[in-house]
Amino acid sequence: MKAIAVRPSSREVGSIEVPMPRRRGEGDVLLRMLEVGVCGTDREICSFEYGTPPQNCDHLILGHESVAEVVEAGPMACGFEPGDLVVPSVRRTCPHASCRACREGRQDFCFTGEFTERGIKNEHGFMTEYVVEQCGNLHRVPAELRDVAVLVEPLTIAQKALSQLKLIQTRLPWQCPAVPGHLADGSCRRALVLGAGPVGLLGAMTLAHAGFETWVYSRERTPNPRAALVDSIGARYLSAEEVPVDQLPDRLGSIDVVYEAIGASELAFRAAGVLGTNGVFILTGVPGRRGPASIDTDRLMRNMVLKNQVVLGTVNAAFQTFEDAIADLTAFRRRWPQAVQGLITGRFPMEAHRDLLLGRTGGIKNVLSIAA
Ligand code: BGC
Repeated sequence: MKAIAVRPSSREVGSIEVPMPRRRGEGDVLLRMLEVGVCGTDREICSFEYGTPPQNCDHLILGHESVAEVVEAGPMACGFEPGDLVVPSVRRTCPHASCRACREGRQDFCFTGEFTERGIKNEHGFMTEYVVEQCGNLHRVPAELRDVAVLVEPLTIAQKALSQLKLIQTRLPWQCPAVPGHLADGSCRRALVLGAGPVGLLGAMTLAHAGFETWVYSRERTPNPRAALVDSIGARYLSAEEVPVDQLPDRLGSIDVVYEAIGASELAFRAAGVLGTNGVFILTGVPGRRGPASIDTDRLMRNMVLKNQVVLGTVNAAFQTFEDAIADLTAFRRRWPQAVQGLITGRFPMEAHRDLLLGRTGGIKNVLSIAA
């Protein structure tokens, strides 16, 4: 069968032939991959910034955002049956008994750094026709989400961030965090999302759905399709070309949450300067290694101390976070059907992987359609 893989030793990216996988353990499930999303992480692996093949293997099969259909499941496979729709998780626990996080099933908080990640770190990913996976790593998805379930994994970024944000905001002794249906009162509910890529837009949906007054700040001038999508979910779009970053507080008032989804550190930390009193600055991007940047660290530190600010880095995701993402995607789909579908701007056959992985295709989220 076909797979899309990267070979770091010879710096190659391409389609390869690999044997069909077989179920071994009683909890194993054979999956037919339906769709696999392409993201910045895949593109960075293809420019050899990181990405590690499994041990004793010279290539890494790419892909970690996926939706699949169960083809075969044994009697001990968590109740899965052929035809079930599933999304596999990405990160797997490290083997160390001393890692409290992994032993608690919270590999997203792994202490040792020896976790593995499907399609990223020491385990093959999902850009292939069939995959065998342990049933405990699979999440059941309702059939109504079939055409958008590939968004579940990128949505887990925002879902984990939101759960952390809620915990942090409970430090404020008034009604925090946001309550759905009750809009901002200026105390902890005004959120600014940096970036209008898939992570930013899914973050904006998550925040808006959770009751935050949500603003999205991105480069492109208005009007543009991303701004229209933002409007359609009841959030508001601001263009960096039209409003310089330092003017954001004048424009918005106190900003309680900044949700970074641009992956560029200098811009992110410049924007951190607009965070208001008691605010939380959430970082989700993994910047490439571009060397040191110059920022006003005195201002940042002064603000952090005198305004009780929190800086939160967050990496996805635990079992429950995937379940939360599936529940929220179902709700978003009912509430904003066109906006959710509008996030997927291109579906391509496996043969089109090169342009997608080498970053020459525009649009918001592009996916490889592996099976119908
Ligand atoms: C994935 C995460 C992963 C991170 C860093 C992201 O694209 O969604 O699961 O932990 O990259 O490797």
